[in-house]
Amino acid sequence: MKQKEILLNTLLKDNKIALSELSADEIGDEHLSTGIETPMRENAFELTDEEKISKIEDHFKSIMEVLGLDLTDDSLKGTPKRVAKMYIKEIFSGLNPENKPKVALFENKYKYNQMLVEKEITFFSNCEHHFVPIFGKAHVAYISNGSVIGLSKLNRIVQYYAKRPQVQERLTMQIANELKKVLMTDDVAVIIDAKHLCVSSRGVQDINSATVTSYYSGKFENEHTKQEFLKYIDMKS
Ligand SMILES: [Zn+2]
Repeated sequence: MKQKEILLNTLLKDNKIALSELSADEIGDEHLSTGIETPMRENAFELTDEEKISKIEDHFKSIMEVLGLDLTDDSLKGTPKRVAKMYIKEIFSGLNPENKPKVALFENKYKYNQMLVEKEITFFSNCEHHFVPIFGKAHVAYISNGSVIGLSKLNRIVQYYAKRPQVQERLTMQIANELKKVLMTDDVAVIIDAKHLCVSSRGVQDINSATVTSYYSGKFENEHTKQEFLKYIDMKS
């Protein structure tokens, strides 16, 4: 980390300056998150998906033109539309609450009251500071409070929140909060182990580093329970 960045982080941590007081240049390459909620405008859903696709198509076309690309070329002419559709229907579809997975809970008839771990959930997200991919594995766990959830829903919850411009810390928290809400328990844990292309394909160009974030609440704050979870996912602390 550069000297200036270290100083900046220290100042932010000590609350000596607010993030909003800094210019984008001062923040530089730092990945700072401002809150648990994805920052969205109040009127975020005034436009339909089709209207958004058409607007993004126009804007993306402008970006390509500014870059000097010839949009009459057969290979390039479909790109603006393709990118716009991909943004709305795929990689940023998790911004729209309508796409949130509907979760059905089942009664825990077999009285399984131990830990359930769903590990190695593959996800693809995008860094909100650079709009390039973040990808990796999420490991989630909960201890049933009387209800159980279909296993694939755990994957879907991870993927829903991943399909947003993200910072890894917020992604971790959003998944944990959603699990708590739908499972009606505080006993949840989330670990995310991910690679950030903004770190590997540009900037410091470190292809080996990975970022791990974790969240434990309720019974998972108990050291023994936490270690059991880490053992299952094979990540001893
Ligand atoms: Zn980034």
